[in-house]
Amino acid sequence: MARSIAQVAVNVPLRRLFHYEVPEPLAERIELGHRVLVPFGGRVTTGVCVAFPEASDRPALKPIRRILHPDCRFDAHLLQLTRWIADYYRAGWGEVLEAALPPAIRAGKEERLQVTVSAARTSGELLDESMRLLKRSPHQSRLLAFLARNPGPHRRHELLRSAAATGGALRRLVARGWASDGRARDLSSVASAEALGDLAALSGGAGHELHEDQEAALEAARAALREGAFRVVLLHGVTGSGKTEVYLRALREALAAGRRGLVLVPEISLTPQTVLRFREGLPGEPIAVLHSMLTAVERTREWRHIQEGRARVVIGVRSSIFAPVPDLGLIVVDEEHDGSYKQESSPRYNARDVAVMRSKMLGIPVLLGSATPSLESFHNASAGKYRLVEMPRRVTSHDLPLVSLVTLEPSFYRPDGSGLITDELDRLIRERLARREQVLIFLNRRGFSTYLHCTRCGLVLKCPECDISLTYHKTENLLRCHYCGHARGVPRECPECDAGAIRRSGVGTERIAAEVARRYEEARVARLDRDAVTSHRALRETIARFARGERDILVGTQMVAKGHDFPRVTLVGIVNADTGLHFPDFRAAERTFQIITQVAGRAGRGAREGRVLVQTFFPDHFAVRCAARGEYAEFARKELGHRKTLGYPPYGRLAKVLFQGEDGEQVAREAAAAGEVLREAKGPCKVLGPAPSPIAKIQGRLRHQILLKSPTAAGIHGALDRLEERLPARKGKVDRIVDVDPYTML
Ligand code: ADP
Ligand code: ZN
Repeated sequence: MARSIAQVAVNVPLRRLFHYEVPEPLAERIELGHRVLVPFGGRVTTGVCVAFPEASDRPALKPIRRILHPDCRFDAHLLQLTRWIADYYRAGWGEVLEAALPPAIRAGKEERLQVTVSAARTSGELLDESMRLLKRSPHQSRLLAFLARNPGPHRRHELLRSAAATGGALRRLVARGWASDGRARDLSSVASAEALGDLAALSGGAGHELHEDQEAALEAARAALREGAFRVVLLHGVTGSGKTEVYLRALREALAAGRRGLVLVPEISLTPQTVLRFREGLPGEPIAVLHSMLTAVERTREWRHIQEGRARVVIGVRSSIFAPVPDLGLIVVDEEHDGSYKQESSPRYNARDVAVMRSKMLGIPVLLGSATPSLESFHNASAGKYRLVEMPRRVTSHDLPLVSLVTLEPSFYRPDGSGLITDELDRLIRERLARREQVLIFLNRRGFSTYLHCTRCGLVLKCPECDISLTYHKTENLLRCHYCGHARGVPRECPECDAGAIRRSGVGTERIAAEVARRYEEARVARLDRDAVTSHRALRETIARFARGERDILVGTQMVAKGHDFPRVTLVGIVNADTGLHFPDFRAAERTFQIITQVAGRAGRGAREGRVLVQTFFPDHFAVRCAARGEYAEFARKELGHRKTLGYPPYGRLAKVLFQGEDGEQVAREAAAAGEVLREAKGPCKVLGPAPSPIAKIQGRLRHQILLKSPTAAGIHGALDRLEERLPARKGKVDRIVDVDPYTML
């Protein structure tokens, strides 16, 4: 059917759609979900066709310029899903669709053709030739041997890397007819899956007998799969209870039924080990991996595998929730409570919640797993909306580690650092070192001193651009802002009163690592945080070195907390458990509970029993106490009580409306105007503020915010509808940012 008008979701932060003329040559080809190039406000931008109306009430429509990537059309389901995201999170539909694409396609780059190489003879012939050239031409010999085992096609550079051979040697083999080269838009990752398969066989992990709890959890997932309907299963399993094994079996069931699977994991835990475990657990199944560390070309390649149905399972981080998986049969969200599922720029979606919505739209089950389920999910389970399955025991030889609390004294802050490690922790560390066991020391702050202050006038040194104290980094001998990266030298005198002495206070991982190295001279100490480890490779190396036992003590931030399995760690020391406890954020207690539980879970995962020592100034705080005792249910009961009293999630919905700009008065004025409009809205929505944000300035931009609180999502949306009708999103130089279901209150 020839189409003459298209409704386009243009990639602009506007919540409306635009009509365009479909020019004659495109009329027969254009389809729903096609990405197109359109003129918009004097420039040309991208958009997606979302409807073909019969007529338009707009005069003189502009024509669509052309169809981009006609082979990566959004299907009806992804159009529906992205539409929902745009409406719910108050973003432009075009923006959401754009966010759903891999970056290279987004940037409009054409995919490059890859040079591929394949074996051109039988493997027997290749092996004979390989033997013959063994001495004379080791490079050609290695290439031949590799091709004999893996005939390809291979990407050229990967083949050279795998065979440790030069390009010259390969050219000679091609010229002599032993290998042939070709070109392909992309290659199946099945080849690399096979290569990894060898590795998997070596580590031989797959195929445990399931424990009783795991069996029950799997049965819940199986029942959901059998029903072939939307079901949410919340898997609450302590660290080491074998949740991954349950995911794997559930995925296998979905695959056996001819469907595909999608697994979301937090950014920090998508490590090569994680991927390897999935490859082991799903032998022979092509798996695509989507990770922000991949190059743009690699990401596009993986995305193509998915879209063309070659990958049967997709593992990825937050944005993978948009992966165009055909015949999706099961979604798994590991560590469903994790904050990295929330995107902190537009569109501000939470991938866990989008996963639930996607499953609902598709009528398929979704499996949410965590050792510390978010209170939202737990509440949904208690209310009967989700099916809750508990796995309260570890599958490994030892049960959960023994956790004890030790109360910190003011001596913790002794300037020489000698009070950072209490006598109890010191004793436990020495015991472990004597037994050649490993120790993990955790503190959720990086840097050496977390703030500098004047001992006379009390001034705290702050970033000139952000309302945040500067952190002292000793190695660089610099003060740094952890928000904008601003750096400066360390002043000798107070910039305010000129005379006072500057004192360094607050403790970060750099300082702890120094103190640990000073105390345990003979121990080999490594540090894992964003300052010590700046690349993905360095991260892998630090972790691998520790895992191999080449380090005795690992000091780090939450980078050490998640996912890693270090069987020789028998002691976890938490230097100060309360660093986040008094944040002006209603989730402060929940986050404290989660982080203590997660870090503690790193202890005793191997043959020997684990111990955890939690240093804290607040041993009686329920979040600290419940985490130490492993009492999730008790924690949830108490915290849900508070939330209920205050109408916070899960008993109500929130939206944050943030105003920012360089002129503080303008910002305050716009925030006040918005506050009035919001207050006039009918319905049960409460309007709190405006008030300066807890971080009142970031990168030189002043910030005011309004918090909307309502028992229902409809209440929030009613108020926001009104705001959007009355006031533009940008007025003067003040931007308004709406964050529905905000994860941080700062
Ligand atoms: P979780 O994800 O709940 O922290 P994992 O799935 O990582 O736990 O399992 C912890 C360890 O126990 C892994 O090394 C895994 O291979 C092993 N494991 C899992 N299930 C079993 C089982 N049924 N029997 C023996 N070992 C198991
Ligand atoms: Zn700053």
